[in-house]
Amino acid sequence: MLLLIPGPVQTRPEVRAAMAQDIAPWDRDFQAVYARIRERIVGVAGGTPGVHATLPIQGAGHFVTEAALRTFVPPGGRVLIPMNGAYATRMARLAREAGRDVVTIELPDTRGATAADILPTLEADPSIGTVAMVFNETGSGIVNDAPGIGAAVRALGRRMILDAVSAFGVLPFRMDAHPECDALVFTSGKCLEGMPGIGFAVARIDRAEACAGNAGSWSLDLTDVLAHARRSGWGSIRFTPPVQAIAAFDVALDLYDAEGGQAARLARYRANADALYDGCAALGLRPYLERQHQGPVIVTIHQPADPRFDLMAFVEALKRRGVLISNFWNTTAPTMRIGAIGALTPDDMRHAVGAIGETLAELLPRAA
Ligand SMILES: *Cc1c(COP(=O)(O)O)cnc(C)c1O
Repeated sequence: MLLLIPGPVQTRPEVRAAMAQDIAPWDRDFQAVYARIRERIVGVAGGTPGVHATLPIQGAGHFVTEAALRTFVPPGGRVLIPMNGAYATRMARLAREAGRDVVTIELPDTRGATAADILPTLEADPSIGTVAMVFNETGSGIVNDAPGIGAAVRALGRRMILDAVSAFGVLPFRMDAHPECDALVFTSGKCLEGMPGIGFAVARIDRAEACAGNAGSWSLDLTDVLAHARRSGWGSIRFTPPVQAIAAFDVALDLYDAEGGQAARLARYRANADALYDGCAALGLRPYLERQHQGPVIVTIHQPADPRFDLMAFVEALKRRGVLISNFWNTTAPTMRIGAIGALTPDDMRHAVGAIGETLAELLPRAA
């Protein structure tokens, strides 16, 4: 089965094999693996050891995103979120339910947000302390200009939190070039092609120290994660971690390095997305995004206007041909969402496009 979804992604057999063992989290052998993973992640984030630290939160990406919002935005603090997709909406809800004062800017989900979109609001309201935003909007496939917005945030002396869950390891953003960024968050199961089960914040140590007491939650307090690492060692982790997923993640990082790191992986995903975009267009399907706004992570395609089209039936029929895509959509208009990430190549994508064509022919036969 080809898993064409934007996380959890198709993984390599070596990654899956690393899970086939029992592990004690406090075992010294495992602690060495885990401490090394944390260092490697700081490197992938373009951070500086001693300035930046990898702070884990077990579970799905939402948990670590909420932890970053709770930790780095004080209770009642005002946070600006550019709204142009499903994951921005989720971020706003996480912040609101944590009691933060959310200011939104509504933008279309068909192009990435830029500094020009947020600057007037940010300049007009000095009480906005933080801009929180999504890097790659996995709802539609657009890429928001996180480096450009970060520069604007820095110029105005504000702080930034970046949801890089579907971007980390692929879209360039170096923490050492973005001192305004308190935390960028991501998970094990997306562009680094590991198993799902744990999220990480790469955070500024000085900010984590300054923000003790903000979180209003022990489980989701990144300052406590930092304090624990200092107390018990960087190979130690609070509460029971998904040890097998962490062991697999170490192998996934080896494969990431062997492939050539960020530039090589971005090139492969870009080629995957191009193959999907061009292939679907050649089938007569209409991509949701104009070409110049199409990011490398997920391709969304308008559902055929034919009244016989039913997404669930389509996904099931496509699955019988060995290709699995999302059975839901979260763009403004009805779409099919097809992931371009994971251990997959442009040839896999062309194969998938062939299967999509056959499935459409089966379900929507032309009138004789
Ligand atoms: C996948 C994803 C998340 C986290 O999703 P979870 O289901 O909580 O792991 C957050 N933000 C973006 C942009 C994502 O793509």
